[in-house]
Amino acid sequence: MAQMFINGERVGAARGATMEVRNPATGELVDSVPRADAEDTRRAIEAAAAAFPAWSKTAAHTRAQILMRASAHVRERRDEVARLLTSEQGKPIRDSKIEADRFADNIEIYAGLIASGAPSGRHVPLPSQKAMGLVVRRPIGVVGAIVPWNFPLTLMANKIAPAMAVGNTVVVKPASTTPLATLRLAELMHAGGLPTGVLNVVTGPGSVVGEEIIRHPLVRKIGFTGETGTGKHVARSAAEELKHVTLELGGSDAAIVCDDADLDMAARTVAIGRFFNAGQACLAVKRVYVFERVADEFIDKIAARAKRLKLGSGTDASAQMGPLHTAKQRAEIESQLADAIERGGKVVAGGQRPAGEQFSKGYYFEPTVIVDVPEGARVWTEETFGPLLPIMRVKDLDEALERANASEFGLGSSIFTRDMNKAQRAIDELEAGYTWVNAVQIAHDELPFGGTKHSGYGKEHGTEVLDHYTEQKSVVIAS
Ligand code: NDP
Repeated sequence: MAQMFINGERVGAARGATMEVRNPATGELVDSVPRADAEDTRRAIEAAAAAFPAWSKTAAHTRAQILMRASAHVRERRDEVARLLTSEQGKPIRDSKIEADRFADNIEIYAGLIASGAPSGRHVPLPSQKAMGLVVRRPIGVVGAIVPWNFPLTLMANKIAPAMAVGNTVVVKPASTTPLATLRLAELMHAGGLPTGVLNVVTGPGSVVGEEIIRHPLVRKIGFTGETGTGKHVARSAAEELKHVTLELGGSDAAIVCDDADLDMAARTVAIGRFFNAGQACLAVKRVYVFERVADEFIDKIAARAKRLKLGSGTDASAQMGPLHTAKQRAEIESQLADAIERGGKVVAGGQRPAGEQFSKGYYFEPTVIVDVPEGARVWTEETFGPLLPIMRVKDLDEALERANASEFGLGSSIFTRDMNKAQRAIDELEAGYTWVNAVQIAHDELPFGGTKHSGYGKEHGTEVLDHYTEQKSVVIAS
């Protein structure tokens, strides 16, 4: 049985409780993990707090070297981590390998940044000749990293890499359905030289382990990724102790396809943007607004692509799309689709569970494209977290922008056009933390990423994330 990783040791829950991890492709038991309670969680928080003084005082260059070595150790065992991820999450093994690599990339990027002097402070001239002002940056303390199941490794890395690089220590709470690869990574990082207590992982329900992390006074910063409803609860609870909070929440990203766009490229790109990870991505394309003049052609192209995608278990090397992560996820997509059909929507690709014995035990659903869905339907107002793409015809850019912005979410957005004037308007007017022009979804490590409106606040990636894992201190040096 897998164990938690607290204070450099593999440990079970003090009361011995466990929970099962099942394979989304087969429903079979993969492994069990400890089901921690609040007391177990406190042990991890206290271990992180005990490790903080030494880690935060370790020279930045040394911290960077330690993180680089730990990351190299992970890279050597990347295939093992990827296999674990596929078995618990369901995604194709190729995508799991990419995700495990991205974990290591992230650790190395922030190790490299601090080795080269980030995050930088400031010298501020003061009115008196005899005094100088400085702004310095300090680590915050213990960070709680709460992570969902869709990209367990990259979304963890987005938090722990900058947090540890600047000298914080961390307690990670993975999603209850995807703890295994996370636990293994923590063990590998420690075996690769990361000091005891700097990185701890506690497994158990959000309502117990997550609650303890967001309420415990020793945790000074919460990095949270998950649903908007949970995020609002996290923000409210964390406010009791005035913790720093970063919230990366749900999205309903709109893609606008203009009549001057390269339609082949747009269809190919939007199909990846919607169906990658079985549509379970915060930055997935979740709504398309296409100009009437090219709508039929675009719809034909993307429907053809959806029909061609090969479904299969994550361990099948030829599979392009795996199952949905849980029965609940699939039921939610089916119910959003039923609502759209009831209101008059027409399915032009997919629309059901795939037939065949090989799909009978997993939570598979066909890549689905639906058109002529009137406004007000759930696919336009809610987040669709699965392979379901609604497409609406619009007369021009004004209508496209208005509809794209008519959402409570504001995570990502995209426009397909060859016209720089249209692109410029989209960049200026789309209410989102990201706008791609002739591209979608890839959140580059180099660029800050985070939402607006009900998609959250705070940034991950870029050098900007370092602002969210440090505190500023003003210094006056008088002579
Ligand atoms: P949830 O909000 O259900 O869960 C996210 C994490 O929070 C899990 O680890 C969960 O634990 C934990 N949690 C649950 N309840 C509490 C609580 N009361 N206190 C503290 N922690 C708690 O989200 P999902 O796992 O369903 O993830 C999918 C969502 O994540 C989607 O809305 C998606 O858009 C969003 N997301 C956002 C991204 C972004 O960067 N903006 C990126 C990827 C996803 P447990 O598993 O035990 O319930």
